[in-house]
Amino acid sequence: MSDQNFLFTQLTIDERIAQVKETTCLTDEDLQLIKSGTALTLETADKMVEHVIGTYSLPYSVAPGFVINGKKITVPMVGEEPYVVKSTTAGAALAAKNGGFTATNTGSMMIGQVQLAQISNPFTAKLKVLERKQEIIETVNKVDPVLISFGGGCKDVEAYLTDSPAGTFLDVHLIIDVKDAMGAQAINAMAETAAPVLENITGGKANLKVLSNLAVHRLVRSRVTVKKEDLGGEQNVDKFVSAWNFANSNQFRATTHNKGVMNGIIPVVVATGNDTRAVESGVHSYACYGEKYRPITIWEKNCNGDLEGMIEIPMAVGIVGGTTKMHPLAQLSLKMMDIHSAAELAEVIATTGLAANLGVLYSLVTVGLHGDFDAARK
Ligand code: NAD
Repeated sequence: MSDQNFLFTQLTIDERIAQVKETTCLTDEDLQLIKSGTALTLETADKMVEHVIGTYSLPYSVAPGFVINGKKITVPMVGEEPYVVKSTTAGAALAAKNGGFTATNTGSMMIGQVQLAQISNPFTAKLKVLERKQEIIETVNKVDPVLISFGGGCKDVEAYLTDSPAGTFLDVHLIIDVKDAMGAQAINAMAETAAPVLENITGGKANLKVLSNLAVHRLVRSRVTVKKEDLGGEQNVDKFVSAWNFANSNQFRATTHNKGVMNGIIPVVVATGNDTRAVESGVHSYACYGEKYRPITIWEKNCNGDLEGMIEIPMAVGIVGGTTKMHPLAQLSLKMMDIHSAAELAEVIATTGLAANLGVLYSLVTVGLHGDFDAARK
């Protein structure tokens, strides 16, 4: 199966489509729609955003051969950069040789932020907010009955003080379970609803009321073990780990390392109609969450001399709402992967980032970006 993936590049477009039909539940009509390049009509585009005068196409590719939590997946990737899909597929194939990836997630909690200014006694205000969190939760949970019906809604309230040159702000976090949505609209509406209540409690003035894209409660993790013999020997594992250590100690390299991970992530975010900027800002912020800017994947050698890789990032993506429903290809991308929850989509997206990193780093430490990857493995 994995060697077959390396041959995928050699197939004609129709041969690739035939393979995708064989390995996914997409129908001939679905695949023809993808192939046509006309799935997004001008009429739909005009409903998606403002000031539309046309549509803009990009290559729609597939990375076959992923195994994630034991499930075989063909991952759709929309993007313009050559080599990305090939090296991501190569990373997936390397992983599949040893059982594939194991992915988990921490749920679908997001943060809505309310900035409160002009508070004379901020420490007291903070405690008053925490004392009345139940009242705040009940008020904001009236905003989105549909979300509540799916078991979502505001679950907790946190409060922090932020010192700035313009004084101390009270930073109230509404902890909101958005379930299968990306969640921006509901969170923003809840934050706006909370603002007058918080002003009343604190005596302050609410300024910003909006979600935070640093989704630290909505993390996704994926890991993989690659056997040293599948990497051409332990010396290549050592080069791999050395490359990671360089990135972990050098911000110039870490930034490019993370760009390589995003090469896998963003094309799947686009293919499923999700918000690339929300994902990018969240991941890059998380890369320096706590201390220094660091690589968002980790690679180390285990006691057998094999390579262990992992990723942990925030992933605010949805399978309902926004463009995920409006763009016909976004729905087909989910159907291709047989995905029915935002959490599973998040796991696949993070895993694709890890696979892209595996594929490209292996090339970089062996044959170089444009070398013969297959030859290096042998
Ligand atoms: P949305 O409001 O269109 O859909 C989400 C809503 O669908 C929920 O609030 C709920 O009412 C309903 N729903 C139905 N079934 C559901 C289920 N199973 N789980 C959860 N909710 C369900 O979409 P959204 O997710 O709020 O907004 C997404 C878009 O908002 C993004 O694509 C993004 O571009 C945009 N946005 C982002 C930001 C930001 O990231 N800072 C800010 C503003 C807007």
